[in-house]
Amino acid sequence: MRGKDLFFASLGCAAWCALAGGAAGQAQPEIPAKTIETAAQLSQRALAGDWSYRFLESLTSEVGQRLAGTEAEARAAKWAVGKLRDAGLDVHTESFPMTAWIRGVETAEIVKPVPQRLVLTALGGSVATPPGGLEAEAVVFRTYSALLAAPPHALDGKIAVVTEHMVRAQDGAGYGAANPIRRAGPSEAARRGAVAYLHRSLGTDSHRLAHTGALNYADGAPRIPAAALANPDADQLERLAALGPVTIHVTLTPTENPNAQSITVVGELKGREKPDEIVLIGAHLDSWDLGTGAIDDGAGDAIVAGVGHLIAALPQHPRRTVRVVLFGAEEMDYSGAAYAKAHADEASKIVVAGETDFGARPIYEVKLPVAVAKTPFAHAFGDLLPPLHALLARDPALHGGSDIAELQQAGVPVVSMQQNGLDYFDIHHTADDTFDKVDAGELAQNVAIWAAFTELAADTDVDFRQTHNTGP
Ligand SMILES: [Zn+2]
Repeated sequence: MRGKDLFFASLGCAAWCALAGGAAGQAQPEIPAKTIETAAQLSQRALAGDWSYRFLESLTSEVGQRLAGTEAEARAAKWAVGKLRDAGLDVHTESFPMTAWIRGVETAEIVKPVPQRLVLTALGGSVATPPGGLEAEAVVFRTYSALLAAPPHALDGKIAVVTEHMVRAQDGAGYGAANPIRRAGPSEAARRGAVAYLHRSLGTDSHRLAHTGALNYADGAPRIPAAALANPDADQLERLAALGPVTIHVTLTPTENPNAQSITVVGELKGREKPDEIVLIGAHLDSWDLGTGAIDDGAGDAIVAGVGHLIAALPQHPRRTVRVVLFGAEEMDYSGAAYAKAHADEASKIVVAGETDFGARPIYEVKLPVAVAKTPFAHAFGDLLPPLHALLARDPALHGGSDIAELQQAGVPVVSMQQNGLDYFDIHHTADDTFDKVDAGELAQNVAIWAAFTELAADTDVDFRQTHNTGP
């Protein structure tokens, strides 16, 4: 997952109930018993099988990291085409242009007062330092607000360091709150004269592992090199800065390829009655390069591909089309906009969309589009969840994720599966994001719930659009 997504905390019941009032009493269809039975069977097959787990093992081992716009991502796309075809889906690819960012050398050390290597990693999109690095005095801000409060020229010639902590939370809300530190911090420091920017990793671990992630340079601000420090290294700088001046040497040598291409892989099961009505489920195929992209977002790929595999094996396709989308270049912020642009004429045909990009821990709660609150669909789906150790949320899905954000803006309803994210940000975007962190049973629980949802949505005429009763 990329970051902006978690600003959208739940509105709470007041808003949900008010919104739901508009949809209540609509003539939403009953869900046929046969469809409910099929959905339950798909869940059981997901729990009993390990297809998704093996998919993830193969992806992280035989492809490995999948940095957007590079040869590795292209290899992943080729691999995914084969896997989805083997699963029984009709597969094609869609490519789009992007600027790829390729990590180089990344080293840093405290020069004064106590020589000490620092563990850091460059932010995606960062410019390079001079080849031999740059050396300057550090100015440490314990909060991001303190950096923003610094006047112009306060950081002339200095390395700005922000050491604010990210908060651990089950729903990942700490990440959304801390996200501007990484995304906007480099330009804010540059506006105040800084020559480089370092920040405490957006991570909840205490290991000497740095968490990468994309930055967004602001127009009109100088572009300065930027990197994330491992948590203990940020602590060390805080302590030393409290005692006196600290000098840091930092070397970052990333490069860019402005003529790169990213690839999205699409697998479909054409609807047997309404092929033009699409249930879209997706995850992103690209990953950061430090680990092998197991929790972010190989697990998501494995979940939605696994749903496709299960539904493809049914005696007949659902009435609507099921579309599994493995998006390219999410981490560098291209995926959602590229897909929505290429499919602008399809927005009205996508009856509901969902994305999984929050690791492989169990789903504890599902947020549905407001239009189906208290309808037969919600009852049928809600009844399938407790045996899978999950519940229907009382508040609606307000935000589906970055891959489908632009589709949602175009009017596509979204579903949101809330996974336990308490330890997600211990390894997110680090070298520790590897296959061994994923539990097969927990991954299967995700597949079970996504499969049930997808079958119920695709084999019925349920209208997920909020405006279905109020439109012209
Ligand atoms: Zn992700």
